Amino acid sequence: MGPDGAPVGIVSMVDLFDARDSHLLVVGERHAPPDRFAARRRRRRRRRGDATVARPMIEEPPSDAALLDAARGGDRAALEALIARYQARIYRFSLKMCRDPEVAKDVVQDTLIAMARGVRDFRGGSSLSTWLYTIARSYCIKTRRRSKFAPTEVTSLDATPEAAALADPAPRSDDALASRRAEQVLEDAIVSLDPKYREALVLRDIEGLTAPEVAEVLGISVDAVKSRLHRARLEVRARVAPALGIGDAPASAPGSHPGCPDVLGLFSRHLEGEVSAEVCAEMERHLAACSRCRGACDSLRQVLGMCRAAPAEVPEPVQRSVQRAIHDLLIRAG
Ligand SMILES: [Zn+2]
Repeated sequence: MGPDGAPVGIVSMVDLFDARDSHLLVVGERHAPPDRFAARRRRRRRRRGDATVARPMIEEPPSDAALLDAARGGDRAALEALIARYQARIYRFSLKMCRDPEVAKDVVQDTLIAMARGVRDFRGGSSLSTWLYTIARSYCIKTRRRSKFAPTEVTSLDATPEAAALADPAPRSDDALASRRAEQVLEDAIVSLDPKYREALVLRDIEGLTAPEVAEVLGISVDAVKSRLHRARLEVRARVAPALGIGDAPASAPGSHPGCPDVLGLFSRHLEGEVSAEVCAEMERHLAACSRCRGACDSLRQVLGMCRAAPAEVPEPVQRSVQRAIHDLLIRAG
């Protein structure tokens, strides 16, 4: 037994639920925008009553709001900083939604040009990221409509792991190959989702927007976002966990086992703050006794951790193209 009386080695719901606050973030920190973490750190310091919060934090990058203010006043460096800050995220989102690197390149370029053009009029009713994802999404939808008669499956050769391996002259370690394969399995699971479930999952679990922000981007209620999100998460887990041997990952839904509650649905709902303390305590008791549900919960936690860690990289040619387009725009604008 552990110090709190819980059997040693049992993953408690509290541990799993900590995923919301720590695990997912730690996994995703590498790629997450610095500002969110800065804000989080400041909140933590405030909660702790840490005196250092009063000191100016010169080591922290300027906030979106500060950059926006400067950009509105005609500061090009501030505008470029905002573009640099968002282009990888918008590209990642567009690629997941459009599935075609060429289209994603156009979408990220058009979105950032729209930002450069509209920055003076943006009054900050919503957050900048919400605004940008909304623009990018509408471009993605327009593109989908335009290519209605084009083949629906557009996969660039560069996107296949074989091509990536060929293009990379350096020998790859087993670890690198395994992580590349994991990325590909996750990618396949995400693109196989119906677009309305896919966009909810991508915005919430990969791009890290809050559920209300996702609702704003999608123009639907927060409840509708959450219901799409839970379904998307469970579908992705069901594909990814068995393929990668994550957790016990039973083939059938764990909730369908006699006597077992819908732990995956509950876990996902807990992440969105929808589960009461009583239900949570009940779940913990069940998890302590049921290795099957524990394995299932753990696999969902890990798969969501992978989403958070999805790389956000903009290929060099796309960066150059965006830079050129913005430069031309600014020159024309004088
Ligand atoms: Zn169970």
